Amino acid sequence: MIMARALVKCYSGADKPAVDHVDLRVKQGEFLSIAGRSGSGKTTLLHILSSLIRPDSGEALFLGRDICTASEKVRNSLRGKDFAVVFQQHHLLPYLSALENVLLPFMTGLAPVGEKQENAARALLRRVGLEHKERSRPGELSGGEQQRVAIARALARGARVLFADEPTGSLDSATGASVIQLLRELNADGLTVLMVTHNEEFARRSGRVLRMADGRITRQE
Ligand code: ADP
Ligand code: MG
Repeated sequence: MIMARALVKCYSGADKPAVDHVDLRVKQGEFLSIAGRSGSGKTTLLHILSSLIRPDSGEALFLGRDICTASEKVRNSLRGKDFAVVFQQHHLLPYLSALENVLLPFMTGLAPVGEKQENAARALLRRVGLEHKERSRPGELSGGEQQRVAIARALARGARVLFADEPTGSLDSATGASVIQLLRELNADGLTVLMVTHNEEFARRSGRVLRMADGRITRQE
């Protein structure tokens, strides 16, 4: 589904690349994790693969199409539709309910959201185990519940790949484990998941683990 070759990204002013000749393949339906210490280049790699930033060189194909050289329009539509991204911080809007947060991706124009979208958002909340919390605001939810809402929102447009950057990074280990379990369930339902984490135990709960150090993939397990 995703194939990357010789990806290099060096931030201006840095003396060595953050991502240094990375090759990688993600199969459709896979749950791949990339583990490594802080500063090893995981986030940069994830941002390249999810078309948030462009590499200096190399290529990354999504379903055969090079996303690195694609127009901004194509990259925007990938981010808006095929790719879902969740971060360590949930970035929910505090004054909106859980349901409204999940509806946010549909609230772009001036048109009111329809019943169909509301039902879809409810179904997503159910899928992440939060159907009973749809009226709660983020401040009334636990950290794990907030992350679940963020995952539901990320999937609202029917993404086929979920990129998760340290999704358990700000959670205690039991809550983190339950978020990993949710990712496993979504993956079992067919979602392709690419997670980066510095948590070894959580990495091992995915299907395959790549290790990253100094911008390079050093090992696969
Ligand atoms: P990780 O996610 O594994 O912690 P990052 O990809 O965030 O790694 O960072 C890799 C390297 O790139 C680090 O040395 C970091 O300081 C540097 N870096 C990350 N983002 C930026 C940026 N926006 N500008 C400059 N340097 C950056
Ligand atoms: Mg990071």
